[in-house]
Amino acid sequence: MTLPPYSTRPTLRVDLAQVKANYEALKALTPRAKVAASVKADAYGLGVESIGRALYGSGCRIFFVATAGEGKILRDAIGPNGAIYVLNGPAPRDKGTLLGAKLKPVISSVDQARYWAEVSREVNEPPYTAVHIDTGMNRLGLSEAEVKTLAHEKDLWRAIKPDWVMSHLACGSMTDHPMNAAQLLAFKRLSAALPETPLSLANTAGIYLGKNYHFQMVRPGIGLYGGKATDRPDKEVGKSVVKLLAPILQVRYIKAGENIGYDATHTAARDMRLAIVGAGYADGVPVSLSNKGHAVIHDQPIPVVGRVSMDVTTLDTTDIHLPVQIGGVVEFLGDHMEERAREAGTINYELLARLGQRVRRDYWKPRQEPVKSGPRPSNRSTPQKRTPTPNRPPSSKRPPSRR
Ligand SMILES: *Cc1c(COP(=O)(O)O)cnc(C)c1O
Repeated sequence: MTLPPYSTRPTLRVDLAQVKANYEALKALTPRAKVAASVKADAYGLGVESIGRALYGSGCRIFFVATAGEGKILRDAIGPNGAIYVLNGPAPRDKGTLLGAKLKPVISSVDQARYWAEVSREVNEPPYTAVHIDTGMNRLGLSEAEVKTLAHEKDLWRAIKPDWVMSHLACGSMTDHPMNAAQLLAFKRLSAALPETPLSLANTAGIYLGKNYHFQMVRPGIGLYGGKATDRPDKEVGKSVVKLLAPILQVRYIKAGENIGYDATHTAARDMRLAIVGAGYADGVPVSLSNKGHAVIHDQPIPVVGRVSMDVTTLDTTDIHLPVQIGGVVEFLGDHMEERAREAGTINYELLARLGQRVRRDYWKPRQEPVKSGPRPSNRSTPQKRTPTPNRPPSSKRPPSRR
């Protein structure tokens, strides 16, 4: 008996060429602004080293991460040039990392400004900063009163050397929400109180609100990774870059009346053919998809039955009229990321950011760049994976008898 050479863990295929294409497409929408990249949370789960290098290769020189630790990993990946801003600010315990990796803290309070001014006095060449002002979201950023304080303390301003004044939109995803215009107005008014500094307001959604929102820099994240950011997805330029693929570990036939999975949350109403698939909530398949979500086999949406468990999810493949067998590949995340997010009662951002550490990241390199390890792409015209995946789902054009 031989088994097919399948892997028992899921794979996230990341199309780096498409990430770069998405970067270029967003750049084309914002010709007068610099385009930074938001790569926090391991580049939304895609892997900050590969994503950072790919974007750097596209000319991106400004990056946003959340923590100093994330910034250090990115710095090691992209080298000494390029600005890396740490959104969560300058915490004393991160001082060494911030200075050592030349990371720029984003200043969100007067106390943080005073702290960083002190640090700056201690060292020769402290990294510059960005100043984040709150314009109505009430998350991070200086309040209006603190903006006034900073505006009056010219020495403090000079000590922290901000190269950007920024704010963040709360409702950019809702194109017609009145809060967008209100925040735009507040941003102009508050920033005008500070010494003249380049400005930045827009995330991905903000880019689609129009050029009044672009200022001198935009900071897209989700749009680079092919996620939709607004309630008008057909207007968005980013295309899908990821596929979460998992292997079928077992095919099981059960009789009507039998139960499936933990807590027996599903009882078969008919005889069924189940595919037991190697991806669970530890990999980023939300438990909330239990008994209601879908995965895709042979381009068909297949229902999840029973509870999603840590390493394994069960699918009802009774109605597929194509072969289903061990080593076959199931797609959990792909072009239909937003639909999956709706089913799971969450948002596309969370589906990406929660992709598990166990998931193997498999990067499709842009054609021009050499592949670092593994077999080289021959002169194929499509991006080449590092290792062959057995039992790719046959396209619907292939005869079903193939597997
Ligand atoms: C996450 C984040 C972004 C990027 O947002 P997207 O919606 O992913 O484009 C930009 N700015 C700030 C301050 C952020 O926290």
